[in-house]
Amino acid sequence: MKKRRIAILGSTGSIGTQALQVIEEHPDKYEAHVLTANNQVDLLVKQARHFMPDSVVIANADKYAELRDALADLPIKVYAGADALCEVVESDAVDMVLASMVGYAGLRPTMNAIKAGKPIALANKETLVVAGELINELANRYRVPILPVDSEHSAIFQCLSGEQGNGIEKIILTASGGPFRNCTMEQLAHVTKTEALKHPNWEMGAKITIDSASMMNKGFEVIEAKWLFGVKPEQIEVVIHPQSVVHSMVQFEDGAVKAQLGVPDMRLPIQYAFSYPHRLKASFDRLDFTRCASLTFEQPDTRRFRNLALAYEALHQGGNMACIVNAANEVVNAAFLNDRISFLGMSEVIEKTMQRAQFVSRPTYDDYVETDAEARRIAEELLEK
Ligand code: MG
Repeated sequence: MKKRRIAILGSTGSIGTQALQVIEEHPDKYEAHVLTANNQVDLLVKQARHFMPDSVVIANADKYAELRDALADLPIKVYAGADALCEVVESDAVDMVLASMVGYAGLRPTMNAIKAGKPIALANKETLVVAGELINELANRYRVPILPVDSEHSAIFQCLSGEQGNGIEKIILTASGGPFRNCTMEQLAHVTKTEALKHPNWEMGAKITIDSASMMNKGFEVIEAKWLFGVKPEQIEVVIHPQSVVHSMVQFEDGAVKAQLGVPDMRLPIQYAFSYPHRLKASFDRLDFTRCASLTFEQPDTRRFRNLALAYEALHQGGNMACIVNAANEVVNAAFLNDRISFLGMSEVIEKTMQRAQFVSRPTYDDYVETDAEARRIAEELLEK
């Protein structure tokens, strides 16, 4: 079988590095054809020397010379800048694109990859949060599959395998609840970024770890589920499941519930997106039921974790509202990591930005670009107050 050549957008991040482990585990099946990073030249160089891709891209153009010089002795093409990031996925030699960069920055390269007809393994949930409708239209027009990498959505995708034509009653997204699951409002007012960065079950990048602590990540996953699986907001339920063993569930019209379980390891959903519809033998840890004696489930508390309610509201309002929420969240998330805002202050700024930014009911790509800039500006102003 011909090897599948994969372009990894965001190869130095948490998903990117684990994707390279998957590729390394199946050298007969996959090859890293393109590697890209935002800023981390050192790690990108190390990866390039090990995996020998056709090309590498550093998004931050200031680091071009450093990257070029470090790879000068190898026949690897070196590019820099946001445009190069978009163009490199269009190459005929690329068979699949793993979109694993962080935040809104993932939107344009992902759109380009779809237009170039490349199947997308989607880890960058912000792409669907910001512009789900547009992405779905493009994917339909160019007949490109979007394969979820987010563990919850991969679980749902696995549950839906073989169920074509069968009605979904609801999707049950599980959430660990994060490190502050049992905190009171008084405690939440004073939690620090160091505490927020300690996720109980998953090792992830800083941005998504903060989003998990604030439950914005789960809010985004609700929006992501709507676009991936074509269900209504009221058909998506979030359940707190602190053990992170059940990765999510689907309830069908006859009342049957299917779940996908496993240890929390992102390599499995990454590999499944690469190998779908097949499963490949993997060396990852296995779930030992005798060691997870209790699996518990509880309702989320949207009074303490307001972001979850804000995401549902954005979903109900539609249009560019989720784009507004995403932009405001990227601003407050970075501000929280820089000690510029309190944990609870994040939801306040997001909510106010939702009220102030201009609502567009049927946004085009240009509207999203404008909305993103406007919402960031408003959120920044609110931070200054
Ligand atoms: Mg997830």
